[in-house]
Amino acid sequence: MVVTVQPSSASIDELRSRMRGTLLQPADYQYDAARTIWNAMIDRRPALIARCVSASDVIAAFEFGKAENMEITIRGGGHNVAGQCIVDDALMIDLSPMKGIRIDPVNRTARVEPGVVWGEFDQEAQAFGLATVGGTVAHTGVAGLTLGGGFGWLTNKYGMTIDNLLSADVITAEGDLIHASVDENSDLFWGLCGAGANFGIVTSFEYQLHPVGPQILGGMILYPLDQITEVLTFYRDFIQSSPDELTAYAAALTTPDGHQVVAIAICYCGDLEQGDQVVEPLRQIGTPVADLIRPSTYQEQQAILTQASPYGRQNYWKAGLSRTLSDDAIRVIAEFAPQVPSPFTVTVITGTAGANTRILPDATAYVHRDAVFNAMLLSSWESSEDSDQNIQWTRDFYHELRPHLTGGVYVNDLDDPADEGKTRLLEAYGANYDRLVDLKMKYDPENVFRHNQNIAPQAT
Ligand SMILES: Cc1cc2nc3c(=O)[nH]c(=O)nc-3n(C[C@H](O)[C@H](O)[C@H](O)COP(=O)(O)OP(=O)(O)OC[C@H]3O[C@@H](n4cnc5c(N)ncnc54)[C@H](O)[C@@H]3O)c2cc1C
Repeated sequence: MVVTVQPSSASIDELRSRMRGTLLQPADYQYDAARTIWNAMIDRRPALIARCVSASDVIAAFEFGKAENMEITIRGGGHNVAGQCIVDDALMIDLSPMKGIRIDPVNRTARVEPGVVWGEFDQEAQAFGLATVGGTVAHTGVAGLTLGGGFGWLTNKYGMTIDNLLSADVITAEGDLIHASVDENSDLFWGLCGAGANFGIVTSFEYQLHPVGPQILGGMILYPLDQITEVLTFYRDFIQSSPDELTAYAAALTTPDGHQVVAIAICYCGDLEQGDQVVEPLRQIGTPVADLIRPSTYQEQQAILTQASPYGRQNYWKAGLSRTLSDDAIRVIAEFAPQVPSPFTVTVITGTAGANTRILPDATAYVHRDAVFNAMLLSSWESSEDSDQNIQWTRDFYHELRPHLTGGVYVNDLDDPADEGKTRLLEAYGANYDRLVDLKMKYDPENVFRHNQNIAPQAT
């Protein structure tokens, strides 16, 4: 039995007086809004929510949590499907008010605080014609995405988000604020690049930016779902030979007017005329129901998937990486996609065979550099009464698909560890796992940072 000791009101008042941000308790009127995260399946009630506005707030809250022996969770964008940023009766260190973004257009770098979401970052960087590799949904947090690895529309050209991370400020389990980069605390920096939620609280990220725009070629082309086998087979071969400027994802989805389709969504970040020639074969696979590929701004491109992923729905995910997309995998996808129980569910196949695959697997904590494909079963529905049916469909689908994937999983796709099972974390980190355990022993031997996809120190 877990006995939760709650701090006294005097010590809570003392923390409140140390913070520039607000400290919320269940009776406070902003409390419910502050405990709401993207996945509506997660309905938890922390004892305290420390809404931090600065690194000093984070240090004060963290020191308090440790002194009071509280469970401590860290919230960035609050977008992770597993919902580990919030736990009943715990102290949630909420970084979402930390919204600072500073673009250096001369050196093409950005300093970003951990409450920033991708739509905000893109807006600031695009004001200077710049961008880095970021998530494809505007309200996803920069922090959690980066610390798990990070894929987006620029991945084939510029690698993963971590391949563009230059440095980070980190509050360690000891409560010290340290800087990590390839030159300073380089072992920690290596761990932050893919397993970062385990080693401290990042209060600032520094990124490399790249010129993007003013226009890119973006959007999607839609085919009827009964052509899914032809479309996925074509896609599999097409993305392996396309230039790095093109990143393309395939998806089985239901349009807002109720039609089941297979879509190929693209972003070409080079010369527009060349891009048009590159994507022309995608228009010839069969007879499209809609061709929505056209020049647009990068910010418009970053918005094309946002509306389809709102706050407030129930969500349950299964995913797996693969070096190949075999005929058998396509057969399973073609069998399950038409039976999807919810119109909000999307089966996504990402194929990223570019710059991200040319990094050595031990260069960052993220290890699966040779896995070109990621098959993601992103189940989403409105009413909790429909949960059993949707979860069962996802599990059955994944059970059939998994033997046809070569293995590994992207840590940011993992759902609740109790549901995923123990071996999944080993699958996420593969040959880098032991090195991560050693790093955890060095930086967090007491496992203070445990509400995440947790790399347990050997001692615990
Ligand atoms: C709709 C949707 C779209 C997505 N699209 C993409 C995509 O295009 N590309 C991609 O790579 N991923 C994508 N993801 C996955 C995404 O990367 C993860 O959900 C990520 O964890 C979100 O980060 P967050 O800060 O919003 O989450 P949170 O839930 O706030 O945090 C997730 C984890 O990170 C830890 N954490 C957060 N901030 C910090 C910090 N500053 N220091 C230390 N630990 C911290 C938390 O403790 C928690 O364990 C998507 C997810 C969703 C739901």
